[in-house]
Amino acid sequence: MRSRMPDYHFALLCLVCAALLAACGTARSPEAAAPPAAPTLPARAPLAGATTVSASHVAPVPSTDVPTPQLPVTVTDFTGGNVTVTSVERIVSLNGDITEIIFALGLGDAVVGVDSSATYPPERTRSLPNIGYQRRLSAEGILALNPTLVIGDEAAGPPEALAQLRAAGVPVVLAADPPTLAAPAAKIRFVATALGIPERGQELAAQVEAEIAAAQAAARQIADPPRALFLYLRGTDVQQVAGSETPADAMIVAAGGVNAAARVGIVGFKPLSPETVVAAQPEVMLVLARGLESVGGVAGLLRIPGLADTPAGQQRRIVAFDDLYLLGMGPRTGQALVELVAAFQTDASAEGRP
Ligand code: ZN
Repeated sequence: MRSRMPDYHFALLCLVCAALLAACGTARSPEAAAPPAAPTLPARAPLAGATTVSASHVAPVPSTDVPTPQLPVTVTDFTGGNVTVTSVERIVSLNGDITEIIFALGLGDAVVGVDSSATYPPERTRSLPNIGYQRRLSAEGILALNPTLVIGDEAAGPPEALAQLRAAGVPVVLAADPPTLAAPAAKIRFVATALGIPERGQELAAQVEAEIAAAQAAARQIADPPRALFLYLRGTDVQQVAGSETPADAMIVAAGGVNAAARVGIVGFKPLSPETVVAAQPEVMLVLARGLESVGGVAGLLRIPGLADTPAGQQRRIVAFDDLYLLGMGPRTGQALVELVAAFQTDASAEGRP
């Protein structure tokens, strides 16, 4: 993710992983045009009194067939530099979305280190050596894992740590990660190419693109697009809204909503102020599960000045997602969109809006 974004990737609040992993295996249709069948939504996760909380763990189909990498391969990464990858035997992944992509491509067994934003697949990422947070990496911890490849995206840093890794002779490959709905497939193709398995990447990218397109088709059926306000919360210390040019904006718009912050002219992340809240008049509040928890659940959220008086506050229309799932722009983006569309539809039709 881009550097102007706040630190999203909290450790996963694992609400219902085990049950949902058991319930995975949703059939995937390669047809992009068809709107999705009624999505199989996971059980809603009751979170500290939230009345409208969408859980975040639709398990993807983990890739079981291990592809055979064709190496060496030379890629041009987002910095413009050419990097030659000769071995993917020991991969250190710098970002949670990239980690999720590697596992979805079937090369998870080669991952020997992940950052603390890597929360998916939960049962695998939890047990791997942790290299710290993606924006505050240290070269020493990574080099100690003897990687043959270090791969991440533009959120990885600081640049000095990356330079140290390159100086030590380790190939460092970084994907672009713009906050758009094109990012998931582009990152998948890039990562797969760097790992020497481009065909597997084309396959997975096409599947993810089809899922996103199907969710967008469903989103276009929403008759009355709700104004949705994304709140990034870390207790009382950090409380921000997401305007345009953010992953939250891309997701809200793709799911058929109106970004209430962008609508009043906010670009990027800006501190939450009562004035913004009054101007934005959200009908739905979108939060990260961990963020909601950090303010004490829905009751705490509604004590933030101004929020209780909005339509969303009055009607308790609050939707919480896991951070990597909603904002990671990873392989589950289409599934996250389906859930967001459902939340917007439900919210738009519930309780007789004024
Ligand atoms: Zn990223």
